[in-house]
Amino acid sequence: MNHWVHKSAILAGVVNGEPARALCGVIFVPSSQGGGSTEDTTASLCLPCQSVYAGLPS
Ligand SMILES: [Zn+2]
Repeated sequence: MNHWVHKSAILAGVVNGEPARALCGVIFVPSSQGGGSTEDTTASLCLPCQSVYAGLPS
């Protein structure tokens, strides 16, 4: 299960170990091992994140 997090937040998490907040509100530290960017793996994207992302104004 992956959460959708902004790329800059993922970078900060991977590089600095800073916690990031996913669209669904879950706070976690992204890692290069997964749980970060989900743009290429939408099939395993957290459903709340998916619905929030889909509802964002373009
Ligand atoms: Zn999520």
